[in-house]
Amino acid sequence: MTDPQRPAHHGPDGRFRIPWPLEVADQRDRGGILRWQWERLTHKRAPNPQPTQLPVVPHRVAQRADDGEIRITWIGHASFLVQAGGLNLLTDPHWSRRASPSQAIGPARFQEPGVAFDALPPVDAVLLSHDHYDHLDRDTVIRLHERFGDAPRWITPLAYREWFRSVGVTNLTEMDWWDEAEAGPIRIVCAPAQHWTRRKLKEMNDRLWASYALLLPDGRKIYFGGDSGYFRGYEEIGRRLGPFDVTMLPIGAYDPRWFMAPAHMNPEEAVRAYRELGGRGAFVAMHWGTFRLTDEDPLEPPLRARAAWEAEHLPTRDLNILRHGETLIV
Ligand code: ZN
Ligand code: ZN
Repeated sequence: MTDPQRPAHHGPDGRFRIPWPLEVADQRDRGGILRWQWERLTHKRAPNPQPTQLPVVPHRVAQRADDGEIRITWIGHASFLVQAGGLNLLTDPHWSRRASPSQAIGPARFQEPGVAFDALPPVDAVLLSHDHYDHLDRDTVIRLHERFGDAPRWITPLAYREWFRSVGVTNLTEMDWWDEAEAGPIRIVCAPAQHWTRRKLKEMNDRLWASYALLLPDGRKIYFGGDSGYFRGYEEIGRRLGPFDVTMLPIGAYDPRWFMAPAHMNPEEAVRAYRELGGRGAFVAMHWGTFRLTDEDPLEPPLRARAAWEAEHLPTRDLNILRHGETLIV
């Protein structure tokens, strides 16, 4: 029986789940983690790229976008500075060296963040997709709070208030999927993603994960996909909120497929998701080239994304594989 107090994706055990069937079975419960670790030990992998292979481009960050401009600057991984509708927003901000609970061990970034922390303009709002260490970085949250105080408003999915309170952040709006909030003149809609959450061993889907649509006062729309496997929800998001003028989607962290497919799209699936979300406007690639989380060659995602884009005969100018620090102006 559905509890009317709870959204449909909130299961009877109190943990969050997605209401769409998985296209590929989730192997995490069946010794899958051990099998994956064994594969990692026994299979040869491409080396980590040198900083010169994925350099930060020289740039100057605007304090604000001009009227009618959307500026999207890639800081790295899922972190962007989005300047639109008179506001400066960050997505999944990460300025630390490692995507890990410890700065002594864990995946280290291939290069410096695309925008130096001290070069950030004032931040009005921060969108958080979920609690994984490559997206929710405690040290970065604390640095933002020290630098900007309570001015930035954190927009999170459900069940993050406690965690943020523990680091001193209280200016926070928690959203369920399809909830709407106003940030100045921008309407923010929280949308589904196919993913999961956990920071500590005993946690599993105690907090919700999400993607977001930004509806600008001039009628244009931006989609931030967060972290997601390919799922049927893209059609619904496209129908309810699309089409988008800018679509930011993950293209990395996909191998091995038997283990990663429920949580991470590959580049071909990201192009399919773009089409189902409305299939027009700027595609902006993310979640690659910054931290090594999985087994594919870290330089492979953009090559496959370009090939998939061309195979679909989509306009070349709409595929944006930004370099770190690069700004797309729409
Ligand atoms: Zn994640
Ligand atoms: Zn991630």
